[in-house]
Amino acid sequence: MTEQSPFHLPRPRLSLLQAADLARDKFGVTGAITELGSHQDRNFRIEADAGTLVLKVSNPLTTTEELEAQNAAVAHLIGSGLELPTVVATSDEKEIVRVQIDGQSLDLRLLTYVDGHPLTDSVPLSSEQIWALGDVAGRVALGLMTFRHAGTKRLIQWDLRRAPEVIDALLPYVDNAGRRERLRSVTAIADKQVVEVAAALRVQAIHGDLTDDNVVCRSENAEVISGVIDFGDVAEGWLIAELAATCACVLYRSPRNPLAVLDTIRAFSTVMPITDAEITALWPLIVLRTAVLVVSGEQQVRLDGDNDYADANRVREWVAFDTAGGIDGVQMEALIRFSLIDPGQLVLSTKYPLVGDLDPAAMMDLSVTSAEFDGGRWLEPGIDLRVATNAARDYGHAFTQYGEYRLSQAHIDTSDQSATLALGIEIYLVTDCAVTTPIDARVVKIDAETVRLEGADYDLWLTGVDAGDLNGHGVLAGSQLGTLGFLAEGAGRGPEPIVRCLRVQVSRIRGVRPPSFVTPTNGALWRRVCPDPGALLGVPDARPLIDAATLLERRDTAFARVQEHYYEKPPQIERGWKHHLIDTQGQSYVDMVNNVTTVGHGHPRIAEAARSQWALLNTNSRFHYEELVQFTERLASLAPDPLDTVFLVNSGTEAVDLALRLALTYTGHDTVLAVRESYHGWSMAADAVSSSIADNPRVLETKPDWVRFVEAPNAVRGKYRGLDSAPHYLNDFDGDLRDLASEGGTLAAFIAEPVFGNAGGVLLPTGYLTGVYEKVRAQGALCIADEVQVSYARLGQYFWGTEEQNVVPDIITIAKAMGNGHPLGAVITRRDIAERFADDGPFFSSAGGSPLSCRIGLTVLDIMRDEGLQQNAEVVGRHLKQGLVQLGERFDLVGAVYGLGLYLGVELVSDRVAFTPATALAAQVCDELLLRGCIVQPTGDFKNVLKIKPPLCLTVASADHFLTAFADVLADLES
Ligand code: PMP
Repeated sequence: MTEQSPFHLPRPRLSLLQAADLARDKFGVTGAITELGSHQDRNFRIEADAGTLVLKVSNPLTTTEELEAQNAAVAHLIGSGLELPTVVATSDEKEIVRVQIDGQSLDLRLLTYVDGHPLTDSVPLSSEQIWALGDVAGRVALGLMTFRHAGTKRLIQWDLRRAPEVIDALLPYVDNAGRRERLRSVTAIADKQVVEVAAALRVQAIHGDLTDDNVVCRSENAEVISGVIDFGDVAEGWLIAELAATCACVLYRSPRNPLAVLDTIRAFSTVMPITDAEITALWPLIVLRTAVLVVSGEQQVRLDGDNDYADANRVREWVAFDTAGGIDGVQMEALIRFSLIDPGQLVLSTKYPLVGDLDPAAMMDLSVTSAEFDGGRWLEPGIDLRVATNAARDYGHAFTQYGEYRLSQAHIDTSDQSATLALGIEIYLVTDCAVTTPIDARVVKIDAETVRLEGADYDLWLTGVDAGDLNGHGVLAGSQLGTLGFLAEGAGRGPEPIVRCLRVQVSRIRGVRPPSFVTPTNGALWRRVCPDPGALLGVPDARPLIDAATLLERRDTAFARVQEHYYEKPPQIERGWKHHLIDTQGQSYVDMVNNVTTVGHGHPRIAEAARSQWALLNTNSRFHYEELVQFTERLASLAPDPLDTVFLVNSGTEAVDLALRLALTYTGHDTVLAVRESYHGWSMAADAVSSSIADNPRVLETKPDWVRFVEAPNAVRGKYRGLDSAPHYLNDFDGDLRDLASEGGTLAAFIAEPVFGNAGGVLLPTGYLTGVYEKVRAQGALCIADEVQVSYARLGQYFWGTEEQNVVPDIITIAKAMGNGHPLGAVITRRDIAERFADDGPFFSSAGGSPLSCRIGLTVLDIMRDEGLQQNAEVVGRHLKQGLVQLGERFDLVGAVYGLGLYLGVELVSDRVAFTPATALAAQVCDELLLRGCIVQPTGDFKNVLKIKPPLCLTVASADHFLTAFADVLADLES
């Protein structure tokens, strides 16, 4: 290959200054000029008086006739409803101007700038955009059908008719031998499939690059493509190659869901119907397009070292190639055909049940909520078979449900969706049994235990049947096909009855083995491909699942909306296990937000404690029982001296409310000081001392006279910054005390979290609480530490947050972690403070301190001790924080990392120097992390700090999964 090869196209050499001069001299246009990215040309955006224009300097290897063809193609498409880059001629009516620059002979054109954002800016593509891309490609292909121009007969590397030749020529630019070999083999297979139908493929002028870079949408509606840009690749080629190029783009934008291209294909064919031969060629052409993209990208980067545009594209192009090359092409072709040609409703015959009558009661429940999976049993290998064996013991047989999201198929710590949706039914039998053919069919033996019955309307796949020597023979409905010759995998090894298993699946993509399980995203399509085989077995229809969106509507109708939910489209979470949450579609999420569930979800010891205590007794603290004594003794022993007396309530709010009353009564004073930007609860009193803008936006108007606020001692965002800023805050505090005194107020209490939880775990300046407590006590007032969020070992190194500040408060409030989600709260204080409260009458909380609550509270503490959770919080917390700090080194979006143990915060900023909160971006990060199996939410006054406070049983593996997913999301957003 020579430097002049048509596949060898470094961009013209031209500076910004030269481009500006050319625009002025040749077109009379001036204005601010910037360069736009291009693979092989050079494009400059000019803000001229007459509007925004683009100066296009074409690659010298593009002939003037080809440029004329591009201009003519745009003109031909005017009226298609798309905004297009139309040509602005010179004063003497020239559309193309030839210039000589640094020994290069270059053609210039001035085009109108098509306003809008390229889809490249959308991370990720929405399903509407994926459809819109196909629609636009179809409209352009249809529009160009009648376009003829001599300049479209081009020798360009994007012409998929010569893809094998291009790939072969550019292969040497790929350094890695393994990758070269893979490109060769994948190309050979795809090419062979294309060659078979090549003669029947329509040829016409095509745009050739209708991808995310080259279509734009307006900011007001990101789901609608308003314009098309860059007609630089217009050339004659296969019509279907237009769609292949667009699909390759969808693949690299949605590599985690390659079947998304089916929507693009349907959208295209709705506008521009495609032929059978084109359907056959489409997938192999998509594969070839991804291969051309990677070899061309490698070459471009080698030839044109400073082409950042080509370099940035390289990674995603490889992802697209690897994704496309890894997919079963035969299955894909079948799916494309299926999604384009509606095969109509399928009615299954019920006349000859496959294995005789089945008892509806023997239908197993392997769903996410099945009690069979409690205590984490869903993670045990072979669990479905064990459940089946037990069920079959009772009924002689058991069978699974079609369309069920099976929990045993769920994977933890992964960014990918788990394929949980069952597309077939399994029948388990303890005795051997004859299998009847339900339809007239031809038998194809796939392997020793699998046959495909090819019927008139569908294939019936049976695994677990010994069909003897019927291979290739026709069988009639009602005849015997064979016997259940095979044991269920793993069966017959234990003391359980020997169980045989028959897997049954209907498929409407002929001759192609469908998957047994698919992801929820692709569920609707696959359910049409593989409908419920239940009728062939005489079993009832699968139980319908509640749709999460419908349930949300019902929630919004019956439940106060101000009690908000996470996420706009929340998953329906119905199971938890340790630090994992699982939705009803069997997708697992690492729970990074649940600071209540300290010892983890679904803990069998808590379940048993609750069950046994309920069975025994549940009453109130006016009765006398041992649990209350044990629990309060335990809490008092954990508290620092001299705090020795416990009140039991049901929540953090109640604890704070009570703590404030204790202080007011004890001191007889009238004022409480609280720090700004904090949250302490929702009752009248707790709300009054909460000044976080996000939680209590009207605080300054509604604040009662007995509350005053002091400066938020936020060492990162506060008035004074740095861990050594305490003296400044203390100085201000003195001023606040003076103001209070001058207005005749008397201080009863100071309340604060010992670590700034609401800001995302920001540590207080060193010595802040020591100084404040001293000053507060000097006023005869009490110090309340709100430990609702940060205590109970969450900080790893410390059990109490106040230990970090080296102080002992007069009153501690706790809740959240105490009950692992069971409503439990407590106030721990000195006996004299507690006794004085009797002046206000007796204190009673109906459920506070019930035997059930105490039993659960004790069990939580036992589990924390037995499972070493404080130490785990320290070790895993340190690992996680280190990883987050490293992300901060890689990504500018990470402004700071806060916290200790498993109470961490990551502050996201759009500008590191100005420390501008990236609020919208933080919400986007959370949405993206949800798709990658992690649940995390923003906090802080700007809702830009991700608060990371998972159950204390978090593992290093899950922490690493979170870090990887977070890094992927940040990389996507920064690109
Ligand atoms: N104090 C702090 C520091 C809190 O974080 C919370 C809850 N977020 C509360 C009090 C109130 O606790 P609860 O929701 O249990 O009433």
